[in-house]
Amino acid sequence: MWTLVLNCGSSSVKFALLQAESGETALSGLAERLGSPEARLVLSQAGQKTESAHPDASYAEVFALLLAELEQLGLREQVGVVAHRVVHGGEKFSAPALIGPDVLESIRACIPLAPLHNPANLAGIEAAQASFPGLPQVAVFDTAFHQTLPPVAYRYAVPKEWYTEHGVRRYGFHGTSHAYVAQEAARMLNRPLAELHLVTAHLGNGCSLAAVSGGKSLDTSMGLTPLEGLVMGTRSGDVDPNLHDYLARQAGLSLEVVTDALNRRSGLTGLSGLSGDMRQLEEAAVQGHAGATLAVEVFVYRLAKSIAAMSVALPGLDALVFTGGIGENSAGVRAKVLNRLGLLGFALDEAANDAAVRGVAGQIGRPGSTPALVVGTNEELMIAREAARLLTPERPGSQQLGSNTLRAVTGGLA
Ligand code: AMP
Repeated sequence: MWTLVLNCGSSSVKFALLQAESGETALSGLAERLGSPEARLVLSQAGQKTESAHPDASYAEVFALLLAELEQLGLREQVGVVAHRVVHGGEKFSAPALIGPDVLESIRACIPLAPLHNPANLAGIEAAQASFPGLPQVAVFDTAFHQTLPPVAYRYAVPKEWYTEHGVRRYGFHGTSHAYVAQEAARMLNRPLAELHLVTAHLGNGCSLAAVSGGKSLDTSMGLTPLEGLVMGTRSGDVDPNLHDYLARQAGLSLEVVTDALNRRSGLTGLSGLSGDMRQLEEAAVQGHAGATLAVEVFVYRLAKSIAAMSVALPGLDALVFTGGIGENSAGVRAKVLNRLGLLGFALDEAANDAAVRGVAGQIGRPGSTPALVVGTNEELMIAREAARLLTPERPGSQQLGSNTLRAVTGGLA
């Protein structure tokens, strides 16, 4: 059985058709700039990429193209489930859920918590339900993995009713990636996940840390929204909570303007005045660009400081795991971070670090030091596995799809 994994954004769809067991991928791709004259579809299959223009294409048109492609590959009948990445599941979802009216309603109820992402996820789900009738559709939530956080980690020190009445707490994101790389780290260390204490660092355009103990998230750096925590490509991460007030009084800036700037014009972009792209900044820093140098240094300093803080959530630290575009490829960032973290027992193996780029996983710490691992994330595979675990009766932790259970699963409420 093949699983079609969909990640629907406001104007894009990323997709992959894969086997949950083996990870074999028959087709993957990206449709972007949907609804605009520049809309295009990129398909990757057997190492070959093809690109085509589809002006003003909608989700429905992209799914029709996908179906035609599946037909051509002779795989249309073998797709058993459509699995969707959904960004925010609030406190309701600590596991994947079979999508039915109740689950759709719950995803809708989380829109205030993720006003940019959840509406796009919902629109994608509804279009997929129309395009792939009869197939079970599963929602896999970015926030679900972090639902094991204890109150000491998820509560903010603010008036209690902000939590009880408005859901103001730390939720955390990138859960699928943190969960996947924790499993991979256990495999690489040849130790059971159940006995490992890890800090996982997902460093891409968005960046977050998680403290993972026995496969469970105990703390994470992102919060109510994905703006909190580390310095990111265009997001500020932590700032003084009085910033909005100060800028309103001093510069007459509105809530919307400050929020937009913190999300889109801050982080590496804001610090460097050049770019939010780490690769470009590292190249510019070598050429002597002062803004790029500062941006990389602030990114690394805040990251190292947060890793040290995150390890407080764990009874011990068995390994640090780097993943995401920066974590998997920037030997420079990894080296700078580990060199700041000698107090946690890290010592860099420079040759191993330089070799762990472009998809090469590995241990980059010297023998006898605290292990530091580079692991390629694979959110699509993890989403497919989660969907399979929900739907396949014989798997541990899975649900039977009898009518009663179906109702329970469709409720999907933790
Ligand atoms: P992601 O969101 O996971 O695709 O990660 C995107 C980030 O990874 C961007 O900041 C890229 O510049 C960064 N990245 C990708 N490749 C490299 C590389 N070879 N060196 C440094 N950063 C990289």
